[in-house]
Amino acid sequence: MSTPAPRLAQSTSRIPGGGTVTDRLVESNRAYAAGFVDPGMGARPVLRVAVVACMDARIDLHAALGLELGDCHTVRNAGGVVTDDTIRSLTISQRALGTRSVVLIHHTGCGLQSLTEDFRIELEMEVGQRPAWAVEAFRDVDQDVRQSMQRVRTSPFLPYTDDVRGFVFDVSTGLLREIDPIDPRH
Ligand SMILES: [Zn+2]
Repeated sequence: MSTPAPRLAQSTSRIPGGGTVTDRLVESNRAYAAGFVDPGMGARPVLRVAVVACMDARIDLHAALGLELGDCHTVRNAGGVVTDDTIRSLTISQRALGTRSVVLIHHTGCGLQSLTEDFRIELEMEVGQRPAWAVEAFRDVDQDVRQSMQRVRTSPFLPYTDDVRGFVFDVSTGLLREIDPIDPRH
C-alpha cells in the first residue's frame, strides 16, 4: 500500500537558475551580512510608532514612508486588518517597547476585496474543519480602515490611542490618502 505524497511536496517553488526561493534568500543574506555593521541599536523604535499594513508585495513600507532601520514597528497581515493578534503586537509595542503612535495602511486593489466570508465555508468543505479566524474580507476599503482605527481606539489593552491615523496606499501612484475616522457619508 502506497502512502500519498504530502500535499505540499509539489508546491516547492523552483526559481530560474536552480534552487528554491528560500535558497536564494539565504544566499542574499550572506551578502547582506558581509556588509552589515552593527548599528548598536536598542529594540525600542526611534520614532515611537507602530505601522500596521497589508502584507501586499507592492508596498515597500520603509521606502514609502521614509523610514530607516530602527524607526518603527511594522505589523503586517492579509489586509492590514486589526485582529486580536494585531492588538497583541500593538500592546507589546506600546507597553513593553515604548511606541505611542499607530499608523494603519490598507491599499487599493487588495486581495481581501475579492474574497468573502464564504472562504471559511469553502475551507471547511475542503479540509473538514472551519478556521476559528474571520477572513476579514471587505468591499469598501475606506470603511475597513475606519473599522481598524476604531478597533485600535477602543482596545482596553492599548494605553495610547490619541494618535491613531488610517490611510489607503494607492499601488499605482505610491501616494497615501488619509481616511477620516468619521464617515462623511453618514
Ligand atoms: Zn492587501
